[in-house]
Amino acid sequence: MHYPEPIAKLIEAFSRLPGIGPKTATRLAFHVLRMKEEDALDFAKALVGVKRNLTYCSTCCNVTDVDPCRICSDKSRDASVICVVQEPRDVVAMERTKEYFGQYHVLHGAISPMDGVGPDDIRIAELMRRLADERVQELILATNPNIEGEATAMYISRLVKPLGIRVTRIAHGLPVGGDLEYADEVTLSKALEGRRELV
Ligand SMILES: [Zn+2]
Repeated sequence: MHYPEPIAKLIEAFSRLPGIGPKTATRLAFHVLRMKEEDALDFAKALVGVKRNLTYCSTCCNVTDVDPCRICSDKSRDASVICVVQEPRDVVAMERTKEYFGQYHVLHGAISPMDGVGPDDIRIAELMRRLADERVQELILATNPNIEGEATAMYISRLVKPLGIRVTRIAHGLPVGGDLEYADEVTLSKALEGRRELV
C-alpha cells in the first residue's frame, strides 16, 4: 500500500520521533490530514519556532528565548548556589518543587563511555568557566540516579573540589535508574533537602 507522497513524507517525519513506531506515525499523519488548516499551520509554526526562536543561555546553557535566561537574570535568586542537571526538563522538575531558589547549570547529557559521550561532549567546560568567574559557594549535583548520572557527578566533583567549593549530591530516595524529570515534587524536594556533601 503506497500513500500519496505528502502523507508518506509526514508519516516518515513522525516515525523519526522517539517512541513513535510506523503505526502511530501513520495514525498521527492522518490525524493532521483531518485537522483544520489553521490548526495544522499552528502546529508547523510551533515546530519551526523551537528551532528559530530558542537559543542556549550563555550562562547556564538552558534553552531560552532571551539571553541570559529568565532564571539567570533574576536578581532575587541565590547566585551562590548552582544546581547541575542533565536536561532542560530537569530544571522544570526542580522549579516545580518551589523549594529551590539558586541558579542552574544544564549539562545537556551525562558522561557515558558506552555511548561514546565523554566530558567534552557535555557542558562541563562552561560550568568550570562559570565557577572561575562567579562567587559560587555550593554546587548541587542533581544528575540522574543511574550509572551515567553518578559517573558525571563523580567527575565534576573531582574537578570542583580543589576550588574550595562545597559539592553536594541530591539524596537517593529518587527511584534508582529513573529520570529526575519523572520524580514527583515531594520526592524531589526531599532529595534536595537530604543532599550530602561529596568527599
Ligand atoms: Zn541561564
